[in-house]
Amino acid sequence: MANVAVIGAGFVGLSSAYWLMQDGHQVTVYDPAGAAGGASFGNAGTFANYACIPVNNPSVFRDLPRYLLAGDSPFRLRWSYLPQLTPWLLRFLASSSRRRYTASATALSHLLARAQDGYTQMTAQASLAAYVKPSECLYLYSGAANFAASESTLALRRSLGVNFTVQGRDEIARLEPGLAPIFDRGVLYQGSWFLSSPADFLRALQASLVARGLQMAGSAVTGLQPQSGAVHVSTDAGPSGHDWVVVCAGAHSKPLAHQCGDEVPLDAERGYHIMYPGASRLISRPIGWAERGFYMTPMEQGLRVAGTVELAGMKPQRHQGLLDLLHFASKRAVPGLGEPNAPWLGFRPTLPDGLPVLGRSRDSARVIYAFGHQHIGVTLGGISGALVADLVAGRAPAVDLAPFAASRFAG
Ligand SMILES: Cc1cc2nc3c(=O)[nH]c(=O)nc-3n(C[C@H](O)[C@H](O)[C@H](O)COP(=O)(O)OP(=O)(O)OC[C@H]3O[C@@H](n4cnc5c(N)ncnc54)[C@H](O)[C@@H]3O)c2cc1C
Repeated sequence: MANVAVIGAGFVGLSSAYWLMQDGHQVTVYDPAGAAGGASFGNAGTFANYACIPVNNPSVFRDLPRYLLAGDSPFRLRWSYLPQLTPWLLRFLASSSRRRYTASATALSHLLARAQDGYTQMTAQASLAAYVKPSECLYLYSGAANFAASESTLALRRSLGVNFTVQGRDEIARLEPGLAPIFDRGVLYQGSWFLSSPADFLRALQASLVARGLQMAGSAVTGLQPQSGAVHVSTDAGPSGHDWVVVCAGAHSKPLAHQCGDEVPLDAERGYHIMYPGASRLISRPIGWAERGFYMTPMEQGLRVAGTVELAGMKPQRHQGLLDLLHFASKRAVPGLGEPNAPWLGFRPTLPDGLPVLGRSRDSARVIYAFGHQHIGVTLGGISGALVADLVAGRAPAVDLAPFAASRFAG
């Protein structure tokens, strides 16, 4: 039995704690914000086993100017952040060739094919099963031309093992009568599901792990010093030593990786949500709107509209235009919605090639990285935790981790 520190109590960190404890390890999770204090709080809650298409795709060269300039675009760049973003952006554009995009999609599809394995056993517990809703995700297109433009990515998904059915106007109306009749085509993804409250799910997971001996430390990790046979962890509450350390600090992981010898071009794709209290009954499943870049999910606290992408760093200022876009577009899609509340900003941890970092650090095999899960950290949390436990145990990981190594950015 080893003494393992996990940094971060989001989907990736608490799933890692779960799988490490299944192997009998003593685990301490460090997080000043507690369970679901980061991006894991306010996401759309979809288990998106179909989401193997990374943001870096060849159409970016065609679409980027329109995305940057159109007033109703769900994508924004804060121009004052451009100087800091440039190295990330250049790598992002370099990763958007057809060859590299297909390689990223293929690697993601291998992780996604095992994603359910990361959750099946965990979500069998009654306290967690209560949040798991089996309704499949419906992804909609309001313009026939946009659906036609997506056919090559749908074909790639299918070739990578994603199962889906295409729905027409009448089928969409039958599936979701609360929607306005503005959608031409929809895609229903088989095997997908959703969480009715991602934050409550994680709090329940934390509670069940604490009952089995998990230590929660409410301090921030400020330093990591790998030594032979151990890792020294500095926190704002004092130092401690661990046999292994797992870095799952989401968008905050970059300085911790730097201390262990790895320069990773991690940045944040900021996203927003708003909530419509009491409106969950208007839809029965997560519904994505392709042109507007968001999902609407029926949650316990209300109907959540979550999405958009803003490249603007880690400062807390919100973009009112993107919140307004979520509001006006969701009311257009679901005319029965009233007024929203609880606007939220979250930071998706994103590497420029769209792949997470999963694997050992350069300086020490005892420091393991699991961060950078971009738009699909809920989906990949469970399997990432299982892979972390494989690395600590010295088992062959269930997925080839070579494409996810931090060293892919070296040089
Ligand atoms: C609007 C939006 C919608 C989304 N929808 C979906 C979806 O439907 N499905 C899906 O799969 N994914 C979705 N995502 C993505 C998903 O939310 C993230 O990928 C996921 O939450 C990342 O989890 P994480 O555990 O890596 O990071 P986080 O949840 O950000 O957790 C990291 C934790 O580390 C802690 N931390 C940071 N620094 C330190 C430190 N130095 N010491 C100790 N602790 C530290 C933070 O407090 C935080 O709690 C969405 C994201 C957004 C923004």
